[in-house]
Amino acid sequence: MSDSASSELLIEGVTKRFGEVVALDGVSLKVARGELLTILGPSGSGKTTLLKVVAGFETPDAGSVRAGDSDITALPPARRDIGMVFQNYALFPHLTVHGNVAFPLEMRNVPRAEIERRVAEALATVELDGYGQRLPRQLSGGQQQRVALARAIVFNPRLLLLDEPFGALDRKLRETMQLEVRRLQRKLGLTTIFITHDQEEALVLSDRIAVMNRGTIQQVATTTEIYERPANDFVADFVGESNLFHGSVSAPGEVTVDGGRRIAVPPGTAVGQRVGLLMRPERFAPGGVNRFAGAVVESVYLGTAFKLRLACDDGMELLVRQPARGPLPVPGARLEVAIDPDAIHVFQ
Ligand code: ATP
Repeated sequence: MSDSASSELLIEGVTKRFGEVVALDGVSLKVARGELLTILGPSGSGKTTLLKVVAGFETPDAGSVRAGDSDITALPPARRDIGMVFQNYALFPHLTVHGNVAFPLEMRNVPRAEIERRVAEALATVELDGYGQRLPRQLSGGQQQRVALARAIVFNPRLLLLDEPFGALDRKLRETMQLEVRRLQRKLGLTTIFITHDQEEALVLSDRIAVMNRGTIQQVATTTEIYERPANDFVADFVGESNLFHGSVSAPGEVTVDGGRRIAVPPGTAVGQRVGLLMRPERFAPGGVNRFAGAVVESVYLGTAFKLRLACDDGMELLVRQPARGPLPVPGARLEVAIDPDAIHVFQ
């Protein structure tokens, strides 16, 4: 069975240069039917360029894009059957909500009665029934993005592309919209690519996350895999808070980190190998195998947790999260924490 048979979208070896800038450097990616895949990466990593290549607004210098069984690399955008929502994708300001949502159907010469039925259905799906006769400027930002969403799904596209669609909304509304997109995407079984530079948004929404940096994909995996078992320093550092160390495996189940400290880790890595160690701040506990004692140098109250920076007596510095019980430790306070070997992720 070919790759394209099991996936809705197959991107292979896509490279895109703008003069000296290599925006995409041999990107390959597979999106399964009905999957919501998030592309997560810092500003300038190539996320939007990748989406534009998929949508047909940029032509790649090398590589191909397949949708289902067909090669769409050279197909014009209008013939790709893709719905899109962008951060600042303005609705047509002079058209009503109804007019905006009907637009893609009119472009496709759908009969009038069918248009009416599908517009009503799409507006109901985004919970905007009764708003059809309003103009975009008579809506809130969140409502406008819901209209944009209705417009993107009204023609049953084979693929939905969302480029930071909630970037301009306040936190609360953004969270509501995230859950709404997830619900909608599941209900309709829409194959979706969602772009964001916000790691929390990626964790909330995705079936899988593709982490991008400098035009390359660093890792593609499920949300838990990305968080618990990042493939390299970049992913470990970009997703979530981390304590990252490097060292060499000095004995089975033991790494000597640069600086001299020995740390017990899960066995399985060959002695002598250079490795990275990731300890998530929330994985420290009061007692355990690897003990770290030192002085608190910074403490922040986060409501449910304390975030503490600990300067250890052996010279290591740690970021630790503890449940917020009792008083917040003040700078200068002594603290001892420990981490179980199994809570440490070792990568090469
Ligand atoms: P952001 O999160 O800031 O939107 P991004 O990850 O989407 O960033 P891209 O917009 O894909 O990144 O840009 C990737 C690189 O390509 C950047 O260095 C950008 O400056 C460059 N680039 C993108 N489009 C063009 C263009 N039309 N002309 C020249 N350079 C471009």
